[in-house]
Amino acid sequence: MTEAKPQAAAAPSRAGMKKELPDHFKAYRHVWVFVEVERGQVHPVSFELMGEGRKLADRLGVELAGVVLGPPGEATQAAVAECFAYGADLAYLIEDPLLADYRNEPFSKALTDLVNTYKPEILLLGATTLGRDLAGSVATTLLTGLTADCTELAVDQDGSLAATRPTFGGSLLCTIYTLNFRPQMATVRPRVMAMPERRERPIGRVVRHPLGLIEDDIVTKILSFLPDRDAGTSNLAYADVVVAGGMGLGAAENFQLVRGLARTIGAEFGCSRPVVQKGWMPSDRQIGQTGKTIRPKLYIAAGISGAIQHRVGVEGADLIVAINTDRNAPIFDFAHVGIVADAIRLLPALTDAFARRLSPHNRDKLAG
Ligand SMILES: Cc1cc2nc3c(=O)[nH]c(=O)nc-3n(C[C@H](O)[C@H](O)[C@H](O)COP(=O)(O)OP(=O)(O)OC[C@H]3O[C@@H](n4cnc5c(N)ncnc54)[C@H](O)[C@@H]3O)c2cc1C
Repeated sequence: MTEAKPQAAAAPSRAGMKKELPDHFKAYRHVWVFVEVERGQVHPVSFELMGEGRKLADRLGVELAGVVLGPPGEATQAAVAECFAYGADLAYLIEDPLLADYRNEPFSKALTDLVNTYKPEILLLGATTLGRDLAGSVATTLLTGLTADCTELAVDQDGSLAATRPTFGGSLLCTIYTLNFRPQMATVRPRVMAMPERRERPIGRVVRHPLGLIEDDIVTKILSFLPDRDAGTSNLAYADVVVAGGMGLGAAENFQLVRGLARTIGAEFGCSRPVVQKGWMPSDRQIGQTGKTIRPKLYIAAGISGAIQHRVGVEGADLIVAINTDRNAPIFDFAHVGIVADAIRLLPALTDAFARRLSPHNRDKLAG
């Protein structure tokens, strides 16, 4: 009679979710960043992601690649060169006139073809309007996972991508894995990651690939291009100085005080979410988890309590100055300078003081 051997304990894994990768996924290696080029301009989030991609690739001991899709011409070539300047080892390039303006079909086909041919393990995109649209359709076509709006990316002990993002209305952070499918895809919003340093003498290899489409294959047609009337007026995400107001300002007309200070010191202005919900400020001025993420050198927050959903959008600021009447307001827990004061009175006083100090006449007198 033979004794039954005790069963070997299952290898530890995340809640038993990780299985041996199917053979057809084992060839997937390297980290890719989709380089978003629109009307000849690379979106800065692509370079922020390049910095993050470099860290992941180094951790995994693999290459970092940029993916550039665009029409033949100088702007597309310049985007390739910028990939190397921001740390890519190589660039995958599809140049085709059909990629002149963003349309979901040709861009999705281009990116899915590249993934199926060259097999990246990790694919990162900016959580911009374009990036969100593209990432969703590419992940769906590839039948893989996509973690949207990540705030942190890391490589786990077993080499899996640990993609962290806010959940439950921003009150918790969760880490999401795509354990059994490839590639592991994630989007990250502009300004969440720091901009890496640009290298002086960049070099790298270029892998060209055909698009394999003709205009008749594409249902969506570009008839003309009408720039957004307000485009370019709000540059919150990339501003060096931001002044923002919250519900503590009490009424729509008091936001003149925020605008006035911002104008005087050459800053952008913003607000918390309920201010937008009240209709006191337009939605493109909202800062926070469901608004813009900012990374200014100076952030002045007036009458803002500092709820977690606001905090996640501003904690990359170098210097946070908070004005609040409540000395126990949560914003004082992460502000570098806290002023317990009535913002309705302090904002005009600050504006006045800055105006006097910054006027060329007085500046000369003060310096003398
Ligand atoms: C899913 C979800 C997403 C969200 N996304 C965002 C987001 O992107 N951005 C965001 O900001 N919020 C967001 N919120 C809302 C967030 O939870 C808070 O409700 C919001 O940030 C509070 O705005 P507030 O600080 O302006 O207002 P309040 O919380 O009402 O705080 C007002 C503050 O002003 C102070 N104050 C009052 N009078 C004065 C005065 N005269 N001078 C100075 N201080 C004064 C008060 O002490 C208080 O601290 C989100 C919430 C959810 C559920």
